[in-house]
Amino acid sequence: MKKLLQEKFQLTEAGARGLVKSVWSSFAYYAIYMLPMLLIIFFIQSTIEKNKLGISSFLLLIVVVLVIMYLVTNINYKTTYNETYKESANLRIEIADILKSLPLSYFSKHDISDLSQTIMSDVATIEHALSHAIGHCIGYVLFFILIGIMMLVGNYKLGLCVLIPLLLSVGLLYLSKKRQVSIRAKHYIKLRNISERFQSSIEMSQEIKSYGLKKKTMEDIENDLVESEKIQTRAEVIQAFPVSLSGWITKLSIGFTIIVGIYLFINNEVNLLYLIGYIIAATKISEGLEGIYMYLGEIFYLDSRIKRIKELRNTKTQTGQNVEFSNYDISFDNVRFAYNQKNKNVVDCVSFTAKQNQITALIGPSGCGKSTILKLMSRLYDYNYGKITIGGYDIKEVDTECLFKKISVVFQDVVLFNTSIMENIRIGDINASDEEVKRAAKLAGCEEIIEKLPEGYNTLIGENGAKLSGGERQRISIARAMLKDAPIILLDEIAASLDVENESKVQEGLNRLIRNKTVVIISHRLKSIQNVDQIILLNNGKVEAAGTHDEIYQRSKLYRNMIEKSNLTEEYKY
Ligand code: ADP
Repeated sequence: MKKLLQEKFQLTEAGARGLVKSVWSSFAYYAIYMLPMLLIIFFIQSTIEKNKLGISSFLLLIVVVLVIMYLVTNINYKTTYNETYKESANLRIEIADILKSLPLSYFSKHDISDLSQTIMSDVATIEHALSHAIGHCIGYVLFFILIGIMMLVGNYKLGLCVLIPLLLSVGLLYLSKKRQVSIRAKHYIKLRNISERFQSSIEMSQEIKSYGLKKKTMEDIENDLVESEKIQTRAEVIQAFPVSLSGWITKLSIGFTIIVGIYLFINNEVNLLYLIGYIIAATKISEGLEGIYMYLGEIFYLDSRIKRIKELRNTKTQTGQNVEFSNYDISFDNVRFAYNQKNKNVVDCVSFTAKQNQITALIGPSGCGKSTILKLMSRLYDYNYGKITIGGYDIKEVDTECLFKKISVVFQDVVLFNTSIMENIRIGDINASDEEVKRAAKLAGCEEIIEKLPEGYNTLIGENGAKLSGGERQRISIARAMLKDAPIILLDEIAASLDVENESKVQEGLNRLIRNKTVVIISHRLKSIQNVDQIILLNNGKVEAAGTHDEIYQRSKLYRNMIEKSNLTEEYKY
């Protein structure tokens, strides 16, 4: 049962174990709640037959039954709720672990609000279903089978009177399951779209305002909300109709039992006690089943959410071993890569080596694949074909944490956390002292930014450094790289958001940072890379030419054109 539940509801091993406990305790809970009925029958029987059982013995029996009911209810509560809360914590931790090991490609194909919904809201829904519905439903089914057999054995005619309407109502609900699941899935997708729309309109608020898109954005959101409401109403109707009808059908079992029971009683086929017992049982079971129907709606609602978690679990994560690098030469051997396997290669049969103690510059027209090559080097994405090695190790076989420790990347789009400047720089080395952080900040030319801020290093810089300019964010990110002091430095257009004055301030620090390292830089300022050890000129994802400035100037027409255009741009006046 454990394996089946684990697969069906995408639980962790411990969660499935907890659910099995909850199923059995729910079974005991339903079974035990038949005890008062048995007690009443026993009481009537002893009264009719004038048994010797005195009132004190009967009271004692009541107390024993109450104690058993209390204990079972207590155990059921603990197994169901405590195990559930543990499971939802486990599930969230597991999902976070999976997300940590996924390549960046996964995130570029999935919306971030979508993923956070999976962690927070989907797990919360599963948590609620686990604590309120699943264990109870399965426990009830087991109880139903047991009581069904007992009733058939006791008196099969009365047993059938109780069971046939109940089975009919279950069958009806089962037949409507497909429609219920599909409308719930539709509603779920709509809710996802709405939350994505909200997120993107918040992120794009600046563009929405400046391009006068406020009215249109509001209308789109409103339309989505109205549509979601309609789907929700339809889902409620689609669910309510079979659930109410099934509820009514369950009531038939009481009616049938009374009518057939009286007929059998008149014909002396059952005694009064049996008849009363079956009528009480029919009432109790049909009531219980109606309660279970409420839970079933919740279980049907889980389908889409469970699929999301399953999909996340089945996504290939990045694995690898810890290795000790003896050098940090980065080699590309016939590497091919496409962001989407169906599309054209963005990096196409690229081969070159970026040597340790050298600076390699990647240049080429916009969109030719330069940043992608940096992302492949740092294993943010995994290459499709060929091979990338660092110090002779295939990077696909190196553990990502081990690899990331050796690489400092400064990208064009700097990501900062909504915390202080000090903590943002310390991300480069979480064990660094305040003094070390300040030294790195000085080297990266951050001092003057920090002096201007009200609380200096302790100033909170807003979400993604919203309180800083592009150039200031860039310098914080360079300070991080300085602090990390990794043997491989990847710089992607870092001069793009620096003004001339800032650039010269950062230059000195940068020169110190890149000493004796493997450095790969992307720069559109061709003048700044003329003295580097190696230039790789890319065009349409392929290597057009490689060598020093003089060598490729001789060889490549594209390079000569680029130099010419670059000179013209520098002379351009508005
Ligand atoms: P460059 O750095 O040379 O300007 P990029 O490496 O950023 O070029 O991009 C190369 C190509 O890959 C471009 O056509 C770009 O549109 C595409 N691309 C970049 N990032 C992604 C992504 N995350 N998903 C899909 N395509 C992408």
